Amino acid sequence: MNIETYLEVLRKEVANYQVPVVDLIAVQTKDPFKVLVATILSARTKDEVTAEASERLFKQGGTVEDLAKIDVATLEKIIFPVGFYKNKAKYLATLPGKLAADFGSKVPNTMEELLTLPGVGRKTANLVLAQAFGIPAICVDTHVHRIMNIWGYVETKTPEQTEMALRKKLPEKYWILVNSLLVAFGQGTCRPVGPHCDRCVLAESCLRRGVKPRKPRKTGKSNDVLRLVSWNVNGLRAVFKKGFMESLVEMAPDVLGLQEIKATVEQLPTELQSLPGYHSFFYSADRKGYSGVVTYTKEKPENVIRGIGDSRFDSEGRVLTLEFSNYFFINCYFPNSKHDLSRLDFKHDFNVRLQEFAEELAVIKSVVICGDFNVAHKEIDLANPRQNRKNAGFTPEECAWMDDFTAAGWVDSFRMKNKEPDQYSWWSYRSRARERNIGWRIDYHCVDKKSRKRIVDVDILQHIHGSDHCPVVLDFTR
Ligand code: SF4
Repeated sequence: MNIETYLEVLRKEVANYQVPVVDLIAVQTKDPFKVLVATILSARTKDEVTAEASERLFKQGGTVEDLAKIDVATLEKIIFPVGFYKNKAKYLATLPGKLAADFGSKVPNTMEELLTLPGVGRKTANLVLAQAFGIPAICVDTHVHRIMNIWGYVETKTPEQTEMALRKKLPEKYWILVNSLLVAFGQGTCRPVGPHCDRCVLAESCLRRGVKPRKPRKTGKSNDVLRLVSWNVNGLRAVFKKGFMESLVEMAPDVLGLQEIKATVEQLPTELQSLPGYHSFFYSADRKGYSGVVTYTKEKPENVIRGIGDSRFDSEGRVLTLEFSNYFFINCYFPNSKHDLSRLDFKHDFNVRLQEFAEELAVIKSVVICGDFNVAHKEIDLANPRQNRKNAGFTPEECAWMDDFTAAGWVDSFRMKNKEPDQYSWWSYRSRARERNIGWRIDYHCVDKKSRKRIVDVDILQHIHGSDHCPVVLDFTR
């Protein structure tokens, strides 16, 4: 491969991509202190979270002197929810003292000196050298390490090895640039999970070492097939601001069930109150800003059922059923059993009642239950099953109900079609879990046993962002 050609192609390609947050702060502020602080915050944290936390912090602590006035507890509150915020708050609290004592309250500009600062490792130091001082340094983060290996330009096991290999062979004029290019490219196209090889400018020559490309969505779906999409949006107003309408075009659902909308109809923008091209049905919780579901459908349903006939559950706006000529579509947001498992019994009671309700409907015609089930059924359905055996969403009790549910004939459509591991639909916002695909599959389409023949295809749209969940798809015979 010719690395110069690749990087020049990418230079044009990523010109319109979102700029990585630390670069942005470097360009906007030209302030080594702010670049250093933002870089410390950015480790194991999504760019949007880093940008918001940096903005909050710089309002009160944008200089060495101002940062020194903020105590650790306040720093924790300001920078939450960045990854490892407690540790980072401690680093930031000691940073001004260290800078004052050793460097005259200025950020040093050598690798050795930077490495003496709290919370600064090689990656952070390289980024500060490159972005704040324009000193040739190669900042190798997960994207640079991963993509250089995918291309076969290096063959290394760790980012440190990649940095050393690149120092030997990468032309120096690209040292500063390579991080910005590959972070933007790695976030936009060559994603860690399901890279978009189908639309990549390097597709023809890239070796794609160790890559499992994203399966392009089938277009031109047969008219005999309905596309049923489910997505826990974790706040409909929030996801709307993060490109929901563009995602809708890509998902092209016939029926779309959204959970955890956290809003009443009146609180939503008009486009969402009545989605163009769809009939809109809402079921919000009594409590404002909590739970709630909405179903959008191209075809007008014959009947709409709100709830499952039990006020304990129905006050939380969890189940909305649309009846069509030959199937029921149940959009369901199952309760979370909570960290301390205090809602485990409540959740179990809900599950039992929901199953009874669905079975009553299944006597009449096909039933599809979609939604956030808040449980990973088997070990294959989460990245760290052993560590999570006692945690909400994977307790023996929750998995046992899912066993009973499937034993009663309900079909997990995704697992009927796909037996592969690492197929997740939810990732914690912490520790760059999504980037590293440390996730859980807790969003499902389940159908009654008589309808399993109607399952045509399934998919998890991991590349669609905007929530901590991603959409899941069932193509279902009309
Ligand atoms: S072809 Fe695929 S693996 Fe190669 S750079 Fe492009 S997105 Fe990444």
